[in-house]
Amino acid sequence: MHEGAFFFSNGWKILSPRYTPCMNIFEKIVNREIPATIVYEDEDTLAFMDISPIIKGHTLVIPKTCYDPVTETPDEVLTKLILLAKRIAAAQMKGLGADGVNIIQNNGAAAGQEVPHLHIHVIPRFEGDGHHWNWNSKSYDSADEMEQLAGKIRGGLTE
Ligand code: AMP
Repeated sequence: MHEGAFFFSNGWKILSPRYTPCMNIFEKIVNREIPATIVYEDEDTLAFMDISPIIKGHTLVIPKTCYDPVTETPDEVLTKLILLAKRIAAAQMKGLGADGVNIIQNNGAAAGQEVPHLHIHVIPRFEGDGHHWNWNSKSYDSADEMEQLAGKIRGGLTE
Protein backbone atom coordinates (compact mmCIF):
# COMPACT_ATOMS: atom_id res chain seq x y z
CA MET A 1 0.00 0.00 0.00
CA HIS A 2 1.48 3.33 -0.96
CA GLU A 3 0.62 6.40 1.05
CA GLY A 4 0.29 9.71 -0.69
CA ALA A 5 2.49 11.59 1.77
CA PHE A 6 6.12 12.45 2.57
CA PHE A 7 7.17 12.31 6.23
CA PHE A 8 10.17 14.28 7.52
CA SER A 9 12.24 13.48 10.60
CA ASN A 10 10.99 16.64 12.35
CA GLY A 11 7.44 15.34 12.05
CA TRP A 12 6.36 17.48 9.12
CA LYS A 13 4.13 15.79 6.65
CA ILE A 14 3.58 16.98 3.10
CA LEU A 15 0.54 15.56 1.40
CA SER A 16 0.94 14.67 -2.23
CA PRO A 17 -2.10 12.80 -3.53
CA ARG A 18 -0.35 11.47 -6.60
CA TYR A 19 3.03 10.59 -5.06
CA THR A 20 3.91 6.92 -4.80
CA PRO A 21 7.23 5.15 -4.30
CA CYS A 22 7.03 3.71 -7.81
CA MET A 23 7.29 6.87 -9.87
CA ASN A 24 7.50 5.74 -13.47
CA ILE A 25 6.24 6.50 -16.95
CA PHE A 26 2.63 5.66 -16.03
CA GLU A 27 2.76 8.10 -13.12
CA LYS A 28 3.79 10.75 -15.62
CA ILE A 29 0.79 9.86 -17.78
CA VAL A 30 -1.56 10.00 -14.79
CA ASN A 31 -0.13 13.40 -13.84
CA ARG A 32 -0.25 14.62 -17.46
CA GLU A 33 3.48 15.23 -17.46
CA ILE A 34 3.79 13.34 -20.74
CA PRO A 35 1.15 12.88 -23.45
CA ALA A 36 -1.00 9.80 -23.83
CA THR A 37 -4.08 9.00 -25.84
CA ILE A 38 -6.72 8.56 -23.17
CA VAL A 39 -9.64 6.23 -23.84
CA TYR A 40 -11.37 6.48 -20.47
CA GLU A 41 -10.79 8.13 -17.13
CA ASP A 42 -12.51 8.30 -13.79
CA GLU A 43 -11.41 9.20 -10.28
CA ASP A 44 -9.48 5.97 -9.70
CA THR A 45 -8.65 4.45 -13.07
CA LEU A 46 -7.28 5.34 -16.48
CA ALA A 47 -7.34 3.55 -19.83
CA PHE A 48 -4.98 4.72 -22.58
CA MET A 49 -3.55 3.49 -25.85
CA ASP A 50 -0.37 1.40 -25.62
CA ILE A 51 2.31 3.28 -27.53
CA SER A 52 3.70 0.03 -29.02
CA PRO A 53 0.63 -2.05 -29.72
CA ILE A 54 0.72 -5.80 -30.20
CA ILE A 55 -2.35 -5.17 -32.34
CA LYS A 56 -3.58 -1.67 -33.17
CA GLY A 57 -6.12 -0.68 -30.52
CA HIS A 58 -4.08 -2.30 -27.70
CA THR A 59 -5.19 -0.46 -24.56
CA LEU A 60 -3.71 -0.32 -21.06
CA VAL A 61 -5.89 -0.13 -17.96
CA ILE A 62 -4.25 1.19 -14.79
CA PRO A 63 -5.18 2.40 -11.32
CA LYS A 64 -4.20 6.05 -10.89
CA THR A 65 -2.46 5.14 -7.65
CA CYS A 66 0.56 2.94 -8.23
CA TYR A 67 0.38 -0.61 -6.95
CA ASP A 68 2.69 -3.43 -7.88
CA PRO A 69 2.64 -6.39 -8.20
CA VAL A 70 -0.88 -7.80 -8.37
CA THR A 71 -0.31 -9.77 -5.15
CA GLU A 72 0.23 -6.51 -3.24
CA THR A 73 -2.80 -4.77 -4.69
CA PRO A 74 -5.97 -4.29 -2.63
CA ASP A 75 -8.96 -6.34 -3.78
CA GLU A 76 -11.13 -3.26 -4.31
CA VAL A 77 -8.54 -1.80 -6.69
CA LEU A 78 -8.37 -5.06 -8.64
CA THR A 79 -12.14 -5.22 -8.83
CA LYS A 80 -12.34 -1.76 -10.39
CA LEU A 81 -9.52 -2.61 -12.77
CA ILE A 82 -10.91 -5.88 -14.12
CA LEU A 83 -14.35 -4.32 -14.53
CA LEU A 84 -12.82 -1.51 -16.58
CA ALA A 85 -10.81 -4.04 -18.61
CA LYS A 86 -14.10 -5.83 -19.32
CA ARG A 87 -15.66 -2.55 -20.51
CA ILE A 88 -12.68 -1.79 -22.73
CA ALA A 89 -12.80 -5.32 -24.19
CA ALA A 90 -16.49 -4.86 -24.99
CA ALA A 91 -15.74 -1.45 -26.51
CA GLN A 92 -13.01 -2.94 -28.71
CA MET A 93 -15.47 -5.51 -29.99
CA LYS A 94 -18.22 -2.97 -30.53
CA GLY A 95 -16.13 0.02 -31.59
CA LEU A 96 -13.32 -1.68 -33.51
CA GLY A 97 -15.19 -4.78 -34.60
CA ALA A 98 -12.68 -7.03 -32.81
CA ASP A 99 -13.44 -10.74 -33.10
CA GLY A 100 -11.72 -11.51 -29.79
CA VAL A 101 -9.68 -9.89 -27.02
CA ASN A 102 -6.59 -10.92 -25.05
CA ILE A 103 -6.50 -9.67 -21.45
CA ILE A 104 -2.99 -9.96 -20.03
CA GLN A 105 -1.33 -8.79 -16.83
CA ASN A 106 2.42 -9.22 -16.25
CA ASN A 107 4.13 -9.32 -12.85
CA GLY A 108 7.89 -9.09 -12.51
CA ALA A 109 10.71 -8.93 -15.03
CA ALA A 110 10.69 -12.73 -15.27
CA ALA A 111 7.13 -12.45 -16.56
CA GLY A 112 8.02 -9.75 -19.07
CA GLN A 113 6.86 -6.77 -17.03
CA GLU A 114 8.62 -3.54 -17.96
CA VAL A 115 6.64 -0.87 -16.14
CA PRO A 116 6.31 -1.46 -12.37
CA HIS A 117 2.84 0.01 -12.06
CA LEU A 118 -0.01 -2.51 -12.12
CA HIS A 119 -1.60 -2.57 -15.57
CA ILE A 120 -3.87 -4.77 -17.61
CA HIS A 121 -3.28 -5.13 -21.33
CA VAL A 122 -6.51 -5.30 -23.32
CA ILE A 123 -5.63 -6.34 -26.86
CA PRO A 124 -8.21 -6.53 -29.64
CA ARG A 125 -7.87 -9.55 -31.91
CA PHE A 126 -9.09 -9.99 -35.44
CA GLU A 127 -9.46 -13.15 -37.47
CA GLY A 128 -6.23 -13.52 -39.44
CA ASP A 129 -4.51 -10.60 -37.69
CA GLY A 130 -1.26 -12.55 -37.98
CA HIS A 131 -0.23 -12.35 -34.32
CA HIS A 132 0.72 -15.62 -32.63
CA TRP A 133 1.65 -15.85 -28.95
CA ASN A 134 4.70 -17.98 -28.34
CA TRP A 135 2.54 -20.38 -26.31
CA ASN A 136 5.26 -22.99 -26.08
CA SER A 137 3.45 -25.56 -23.98
CA LYS A 138 5.41 -28.22 -22.06
CA SER A 139 4.52 -31.49 -20.37
CA TYR A 140 5.11 -32.89 -16.88
CA ASP A 141 7.52 -35.80 -16.46
CA SER A 142 4.82 -37.67 -14.54
CA ALA A 143 1.44 -37.27 -12.87
CA ASP A 144 3.34 -37.35 -9.58
CA GLU A 145 5.40 -34.31 -10.54
CA MET A 146 2.23 -32.39 -11.43
CA GLU A 147 0.61 -33.43 -8.14
CA GLN A 148 3.67 -32.35 -6.15
CA LEU A 149 3.65 -28.90 -7.75
CA ALA A 150 -0.09 -28.60 -7.17
CA GLY A 151 0.56 -29.45 -3.52
CA LYS A 152 3.13 -26.67 -3.23
CA ILE A 153 0.70 -24.18 -4.72
CA ARG A 154 -2.02 -25.37 -2.32
CA GLY A 155 0.47 -24.89 0.50
CA GLY A 156 1.04 -21.32 -0.63
CA LEU A 157 -2.65 -20.42 -0.65
CA THR A 158 -3.64 -17.80 1.87
CA GLU A 159 -7.10 -16.54 2.70
P1 AMP B 1 4.62 -4.54 -19.46
O1 AMP B 1 5.70 -5.18 -20.27
O2 AMP B 1 3.51 -5.49 -19.07
O3 AMP B 1 5.20 -3.80 -18.27
O4 AMP B 1 3.93 -3.48 -20.40
C1 AMP B 1 4.28 -2.14 -20.46
C2 AMP B 1 3.58 -1.55 -21.65
O5 AMP B 1 3.64 -0.14 -21.56
C3 AMP B 1 4.21 -1.93 -23.00
O6 AMP B 1 3.23 -2.59 -23.80
C4 AMP B 1 4.62 -0.59 -23.60
O7 AMP B 1 4.42 -0.51 -24.99
C5 AMP B 1 3.71 0.37 -22.86
N1 AMP B 1 4.23 1.74 -22.75
C6 AMP B 1 5.45 2.13 -22.33
N2 AMP B 1 5.54 3.46 -22.34
C7 AMP B 1 4.35 3.93 -22.78
C8 AMP B 1 3.83 5.24 -23.02
N3 AMP B 1 4.55 6.35 -22.80
N4 AMP B 1 2.56 5.35 -23.47
C9 AMP B 1 1.82 4.25 -23.69
N5 AMP B 1 2.25 2.99 -23.48
C10 AMP B 1 3.51 2.84 -23.04
